[in-house]
Amino acid sequence: MSSGGRQCEVCRGAAAKYKCPTCRLKYCSVRCYKSHQSQPCQAAEVPCRPAVEDAESCVSQQQILFPTDDTVAPHTLEKLKDCDKLKDLLGNPHLRQLLREVDGAANAQAAMRRAMLEPIFTEFADAALGVVEPDLEAANAPAPRPSKKQHSS
Ligand SMILES: [Zn+2]
Ligand SMILES: [Zn+2]
Repeated sequence: MSSGGRQCEVCRGAAAKYKCPTCRLKYCSVRCYKSHQSQPCQAAEVPCRPAVEDAESCVSQQQILFPTDDTVAPHTLEKLKDCDKLKDLLGNPHLRQLLREVDGAANAQAAMRRAMLEPIFTEFADAALGVVEPDLEAANAPAPRPSKKQHSS
């Protein structure tokens, strides 16, 4: 018994010369192919789907991790200047270099991903988000108005 690398998988006799385009089953002749086609066969593998899902989750994670300048109001960015922690971190020339690279990169997302591998950059991003995020929440929620207005009926 050969373990059947090249044997026809339909008649198990002759050497297989062809493959079913759908399930890649090996067969030797048109007659065996027709015999194979008398039963429905399924595609052997679908490799592309998980890859797409993976790429999508990558992108959405990135957007949550670090909003771009476009998503942050200018007055919020002004607040970053007042943060001592950020000033402290920005004293680090390595971090400044990283920021410059991200800022000038043709592919900002790829540059950001690279920069996020650097502990100093993640620390900076965390500190920046700490300043930016509470403000965003406050801006989204309308100022609370305790006084109830009732329509007189
Ligand atoms: Zn055959
Ligand atoms: Zn088939």
